[in-house]
Amino acid sequence: MPIVRVALNVPVGTLFDYYAEHADQENIGLRVSVPFGKRRLAGIIMEVVANTEVPPEKLKTIQGVFTDNPPLPKELLNLFAFCSQYYHHPIGMVIMNGLPAALRTTKPIKPKKDHSATWNNTQLRLTDAGKRIALSSIPKRQRIARNLLVRFQQVESIPGEAFKEDSSRIKQLIQQWLVSGWISTDSSPHSAQDNAVTDSNIPTLTVEQDHAVNTILSAQSHFHVSLLHGITGSGKTEVYLRLIAAMLMQDKQVLVLVPEINLTPQLEAIFHNRFPCTNLISLHSGLNDTERLQGWLQAQTGEANIVLGTRLAIFTPLPNLGLIIVDEEHDHSFKQQDGLRYSARDLAIFRSKQVNIPVILGSATPSLESYHSAITGRYRVIQLTSRAIKNAALPTIQTIDTRIHKTFNGLSQPLLQALRTNLSEQQQSIIFINRRGYAPTLLCKSCAWTAACVRCSSRLVVHLRDKDLRCHYCGHQERLPIHCPECGNQDLTPFGQGTQRVTETLNTYFPNARILRIDRDSTRRKDAWRSILQKIHNQEIDILVGTQILAKGHDFPNLSLIGILNSDNSLYSTDFRASERLFAQLMQISGRAGRSNNKGQVLIQTEFPDHPLYQALQKQNFDALAKNLLIERKIAGFPPYVHQAVLRAEAHRIETVIDFLSTAAKLAKDYESIELFDPVPAQMLRLKGMERGHLLVQSASRKQLQIFLLQWQKQLSTVPTQKIRWVLDVDPVEL
Ligand code: ADP
Ligand code: ZN
Ligand code: ZN
Repeated sequence: MPIVRVALNVPVGTLFDYYAEHADQENIGLRVSVPFGKRRLAGIIMEVVANTEVPPEKLKTIQGVFTDNPPLPKELLNLFAFCSQYYHHPIGMVIMNGLPAALRTTKPIKPKKDHSATWNNTQLRLTDAGKRIALSSIPKRQRIARNLLVRFQQVESIPGEAFKEDSSRIKQLIQQWLVSGWISTDSSPHSAQDNAVTDSNIPTLTVEQDHAVNTILSAQSHFHVSLLHGITGSGKTEVYLRLIAAMLMQDKQVLVLVPEINLTPQLEAIFHNRFPCTNLISLHSGLNDTERLQGWLQAQTGEANIVLGTRLAIFTPLPNLGLIIVDEEHDHSFKQQDGLRYSARDLAIFRSKQVNIPVILGSATPSLESYHSAITGRYRVIQLTSRAIKNAALPTIQTIDTRIHKTFNGLSQPLLQALRTNLSEQQQSIIFINRRGYAPTLLCKSCAWTAACVRCSSRLVVHLRDKDLRCHYCGHQERLPIHCPECGNQDLTPFGQGTQRVTETLNTYFPNARILRIDRDSTRRKDAWRSILQKIHNQEIDILVGTQILAKGHDFPNLSLIGILNSDNSLYSTDFRASERLFAQLMQISGRAGRSNNKGQVLIQTEFPDHPLYQALQKQNFDALAKNLLIERKIAGFPPYVHQAVLRAEAHRIETVIDFLSTAAKLAKDYESIELFDPVPAQMLRLKGMERGHLLVQSASRKQLQIFLLQWQKQLSTVPTQKIRWVLDVDPVEL
């Protein structure tokens, strides 16, 4: 009887063998249910073989095969396999991490409806949008699509039945073009008028945009990485839209990855607007299981043409994938910070290579890793150096020296004055509070007691409105104490400029202004963010106060002043990526100002106005800063000049952790090409009741690092570690 090798969701890096009657190579990728100990588990068939080393008396038989959804495509299985190898994570857990919940169970899924359109008995013609498609945007190799387009271009309309004898490929294309709104039927529910985007909505590309689109399309049939380095407001989205249009025209699928779930609605709306009938699905952590499953299945069957999602969407099956876009590629949200610690950006590059298609990394402030790859010629750089909208000037960026202009409750006089002026001109303002290492904590000024979390070593954050203290790491909550538990002092004051405190202060200065505070809490509710954006657009808000959440990719047309508080915290951080991140964040937030015809002004409160980072920022010179940082990194021997991995461990007591890490360090000493650091306690020692530490290793060669990690992991597995949990983090972005 044939034997299937199955990946199961268990923390063991091997496949499990079972008998399976009638199994053949076609069954690879199918979901099965198998006996595992006393349990029944769902698994995926990875191989079908004739022999196994498992003794026959131990070999069990699978219990069921699910044929209610098609097998996972080979290409996706390869992606999982690569991911498992590269991140040193068990294959079964990698697969189960990537699958929608319903496919991780031993229950069948509900079948989906099939809606195939009928256009046999009507006239088909190009819509206005279809007429604008240039033949040159379709590569020569796509002969069928080119011929079809020419056929439509030559006549006013073609009766549907004229295609009766044509190949199924042509019928498929027609179906796709109907859906995309490039052709219409007489009877189609979406007539050409509703369907097509009117010319006036589509901007004429700037010279730089046009160049970007052409460069990428001219090499669209093979793998290459393009770094689309465009300042904020340079119209990267429009470049994406043109590329997507070219892909849809060829009935290809496009995967668009964004860092934040909050960014999906805005982009989704833009895509819907441009491609009104294209089947677009968005996949992110905010979906329920059924929604995610439906989206996933539509992608797998090729019905969905655009898949828009956060990092998890990289694991979507896409049989006709033609292009991957990673927007805001520098964002650390693309790296998962627990369990399988993968980088969706890096996997996107692997995936594009695997299926031989282009991948675009877009950013105003590329990661130093990508920037380095670009200047060394591994990636192609495409620059957008000016704003797309005529007259939209770059904002002016200035610093306010807080050694001279003292702040009160976090706000300096020059900033307040600028806010006042802006209010009187009925323009919108943003106060951006850099939250890294900063939040209002409770401090006793007479004995210096601070409120700390009982489970973590972190400081508790004051939430005045709810009169409680919360731990932003582990979720612990407690009542706000009335007096100091140490000395009894009744005058406990929140310390630090949290969003709440600044909002209250602003309210007292500007009682008539409409001030809105935004943070994770206020946007948690489903659709909350959407309604906030609506308010901003309707000019129902004068001043927005918020944290990082404000920085990302939103277009606020009437925004002309941005005040930045607390950014100095990141200047002298122990994290070598802190300045890169701060620069990206400040550039991004500054980019929110002056998008349309208003001039924009950015004011940064700082004690270090001469710092090179602020100097580069004022000149909006990313290259200057990036080149400086690269030199620093090279001298210090940090990425991108070396490749890193971190062994993270946790236990109830830090001594146990350090012992284990020291053993691990001894094991690693024998590898010549590996540079080893000392085991250290984590900066945030306690988290959720556990104490944590780590050991950093690095190598100039990615390959050597990988070879080492594979051996090391095997050795580590044999170290007795009952009280310890450990995990490898490859290419860590945070320590
Ligand atoms: P980015 O993502 O690069 O920051 P956006 O894609 O948000 O920039 O574009 C900024 C603004 O410019 C948007 O309002 C967009 O509609 C507009 N825009 C983009 N391309 C053009 C163009 N070629 N002509 C006129 N306006 C454009
Ligand atoms: Zn805590
Ligand atoms: Zn006290």
